[in-house]
Parts: sequence; structure tokens; C-alpha cells
Amino acid sequence: MLKEAVYHEAHGSYAYPVSPTTLRITLRAARGDLRQVKVVYWDRYQGSGELVAVMELAAMDELFAYYQADLELSTTRFAYVFLLDDGRSQVFYTEKGFYADPPPYSQFQYPYIALQDLWEPPQWAQGAVIYQIFPERFANGDPTNDPLEVEPWNSQPTATGQRGGDLRGIIQHLDHLIELGIDAIYLTPIFESPSNHKYDTTDYYKIDPHFGTLDEVKELVGLCHQHGIKVIFDAVFNHCGMGFFAFQDVLAKGKQSRFAQWFNVWKWPIETDPPSYETFATGIASMPKLMTSNPEVRKYLLDVGRYWIEAADIDGWRLDVCNEIDHDFWREFRQVVKQAKPEALIVGEIWHEASDWLRGDQFDSVMNYSLYYACVDFFARRRIRAESFANRLATVQVNHTHPVNLSLFNLLGSHDTARFLTECGEQKARHRLAAAFVLTYEGAPMIYYGDEVGMVGETDPDCRRGMIWDQKEQDQETLEWYKRLIALRKERPVLRTGRCRVFLADSAQNLLGYARFSNEDQVLVVINNSDSPREIEPASLPWPLSAPGQVNDLLTGRAILSREPLVLPPESVVILG
Ligand code: CA
Repeated sequence: MLKEAVYHEAHGSYAYPVSPTTLRITLRAARGDLRQVKVVYWDRYQGSGELVAVMELAAMDELFAYYQADLELSTTRFAYVFLLDDGRSQVFYTEKGFYADPPPYSQFQYPYIALQDLWEPPQWAQGAVIYQIFPERFANGDPTNDPLEVEPWNSQPTATGQRGGDLRGIIQHLDHLIELGIDAIYLTPIFESPSNHKYDTTDYYKIDPHFGTLDEVKELVGLCHQHGIKVIFDAVFNHCGMGFFAFQDVLAKGKQSRFAQWFNVWKWPIETDPPSYETFATGIASMPKLMTSNPEVRKYLLDVGRYWIEAADIDGWRLDVCNEIDHDFWREFRQVVKQAKPEALIVGEIWHEASDWLRGDQFDSVMNYSLYYACVDFFARRRIRAESFANRLATVQVNHTHPVNLSLFNLLGSHDTARFLTECGEQKARHRLAAAFVLTYEGAPMIYYGDEVGMVGETDPDCRRGMIWDQKEQDQETLEWYKRLIALRKERPVLRTGRCRVFLADSAQNLLGYARFSNEDQVLVVINNSDSPREIEPASLPWPLSAPGQVNDLLTGRAILSREPLVLPPESVVILG
């Protein structure tokens, strides 16, 4: 037995409540090492009437297997040890180590399920379809508010050029989003700023005049809410823009400015070329870093967080460069935001493993770039095969609770990456396969504006082209594909909120299969990410809830018969339920 690989901790994603009386626990072991894992558990005050649960194999990554069980105890005071069996020997794994006969006080303990700890992200966000809009490039609905110099809508984007997109444009094209079937819009920043991306805020309390007015924001949010669509704003609290009033005061008054401590100026008199102060990234003078350790800065930014929920009734925040701001700030931010609107969503921009922010005290979700890169490697570039892809999915999955996994923004691209179709070498079938994956896998699929009509572009600024509105220029087949899959999520809620288990990861054939399941329903997804047709015996599919013969291919409506092999054409997906 590879004891070095065995791991459990009685908190985080390894032990969390899923109901007032149910604890979900996970144990890690070396992949392929154990034949069976049981958990023996009891009320930690009573220590008798021991209960035993057999743990299920829930996920596997490259090195490890993860076993899971839901423990039910009406007193909710859990003590437990694991019984590991590798076919040759049995041993108990406890908090204090491995024993044939665990000594007293060696058990793991989850002391009590406090209802406040039964935390999960807002229900509406779990499995929601998110649509990301870069407002400068979505639609120009009001030429009267355009910047002085406007580039042609369809010209090649430059780093600084502007072309007049605005809030009115979004309002005018809301029908496109309603027909698509999305649940929430995430807008990149819309506060006053000199740039086209507006990640260098001049005034956190003012809508950029080239985008519109406070009244137009209220109109947009109100219309969205009428159609059941939530609206998420983007906040840049790590840094401000050069024009921010406090930084302007420091530039004018130097060390004497009452805002001097809002920034980290390391050499006076202050200089901007090169900057003698801390900035976003390295030496970006136009983005001075804000000192969130300063109580005045904290109060200012927390007030911004509350203000827009109250003023415009927005439904959440996406937080730029949030991993360079202290955790304590985000804990306070969460309190402020949830007080203003308990169902508000807080999403961090974190490109790496982010579970430290996702424990219920800071964020509800992050932009899931780990999944994005896995999708680029598997679907777009085919640099990895099915088993590696499944391994990478599992690594993300086991780091979070199930409700957090359901809320992660599963993106195929953003304003900071190349377009997915471009990553695919403009092979539409590959893009559609990846879209089918994120729209059936667990999480909140995020569509970057225009991906659904086949837009292309290298990384920014090229990925920020003007949205294609001419229907003849739009890829209607891809648009219908997105609509069909989003509609399917609504028809079968298990695709939104069900649990997810990979049951097939065949690198030789490049086949991936996973089940979405709940107590009420089950859907199986099988993806053929190869250029050859593949066949699967229906009997080899896991059907715990319904037998073959009662199952349909949900995309075609065709009945699946147990006596006929399931044929998957090249680069195709079947969704069975
Ligand atoms: Ca305009």
C-alpha cells in the first residue's frame, strides 16, 4: 500500500456539509492502489453504534484516486477513521497515522455542522450560463456619445483605438441574448476611464460618458431582470487609473497630499516615467497600485462595492487582479456586498489554483482558466488526449466543494486570450465540441461575446473585435448549436446542478464520457475528439437510473437501443438521457 499517497483533512473540499445532517468526505490515495475504502464513523461524544460507509471512486487524476462518501448523522458531530484495503492488507488511516487498531483520540473529527457553515454560492449562479461583454466592442447604440475619433466597427483592433460601443447598444441587442438563453451578463469595466478596456479607472462612481449614463445602466439592469438575466460588474480595486482624484492630488501636491498614503511611492518627488511608485504588473505608470492596507482606501473601495448594488441593482462583482489584494480586504468586501444583496455573486479573476479564496469567506467563484487551458490543449490544439484531459478536470474538481464547482466560470476565452476558434485553427467542429463540453460539464459556462457567431482573433487587442451583427456574416450553424445546448440545460436541470463523474477517458480512441447525475435524473455525455468514427456498446455505459432502450440521444431525439452499438461520427458528441 502506498501510504505516502494517502491523504485527508477534515475541512475544505475534503470534508464539508451538504445538508444540515450530511457530511461529504473525500479521501485521496495512489491511483490504482486500493481495492476498497470504507469509512467508519460515529457521534464523537458517543463512540458506539459505529456506522460504516463504502466510499465511491469519485475522480482520478494523473497520480491519485479520490474516494467520496456522504455521512449522515442526526447529531451532526462526526468522528471517523478510514479502513483501507489494497487486496493484500487492511489498515486504518486516522488523523494520527496508520494503525491496525486505532488508539484513542486518533480519529478525524468534524465537530459539528453549524448551519452558518452550510455555505454555497448563490443558487442562481450554480450552473448559470454567463455571457461576457466587452462594451466598447459589442454594439454602438448611440453615436452621439462616441469618442471624438472612432475607428470603423470592423477594422483591425489596436491597443488604444475606440469605436463607440455603449450601453444603449447592449439594450438594443438584448433580444440576441434572450434568444441565446443566457442567465447572466458579465460586463468588463464601465466606469469612467481613458482607455477602451477601462481597467484604469478615473472615477469609480461614474459611468464612462462614452458608454452612457446612470439612467441607462438602470434601464439595462431593469430590462435584464425582467427577462431573468443577472448583471455582473467588473471592479478593479488592485489599482486605479492615472486620472483617479487621489492620484491626481498626489501628483499635484506630492508628499503633502492627504492621499499620499493611498499609494506606495518609494521616491519623492513622485515621477511617472519611469514610475517611482508601485503599479499594476511592472512599471505600468497609468495603473498606480492602491494600498488596500490603508483604512481610508479600504473604506473608499468597500463603499464602491455597496454603492453600485444599491444604485443600479447589480447582481454581483467580478474582481480584477484580486489575488494581489489581501484576503482580509476580501472578507470585509464579502460582508459589505452580501449585506447589500445576499444573492450577489462575487467572482475573482484568478488564473491559478484558487481554493484559498473559495472557502465561503471571500469569493463564490473564479474565472476557471485551469479548465480553459485544458480545453485549449484537448479540443483546440489536441496537444493532450482524453486521459490527460480528464486528469486535469479532476484536479480542479477535487479542490472545491460541489456547489463551488457548479459556479466556476468555465470559459473558452475572454478579453485576455485568443478566441477559441482561432486556437482551433478555425476548425469549427473543434470549437463546437468544446462548446458542447462546457455546456454539459459541471460549472457556469461563460461565453465570450461573439464566440457563438464564430468570431476569431488572436490575443488582445485582436480578440476584442467589433461584434458581428450582420446575420450573413454570422456562423448561424454555431449559433444554433449554442442555442440548442443552452436550451437542453434548461430542459434537463441535472445538466446545471447535477454532480459529475467521468466514466470514460480513452486516450487511444480519444473518447471522453461523463455522467451528470442527481437523485432524480441522469444524463450521459460521450465526446469523440478524434477524426475517426467510434463505436461504443451501450451495455458498457453506466446506467444506474434507467436501462438502455429507455434512453434517447437528446440532440437528435433518436432512441438508443441496447442491441445496437452507439456510433459516434468524427468530432462529435452524444448526450444521452
Ligand atoms: Ca456610442
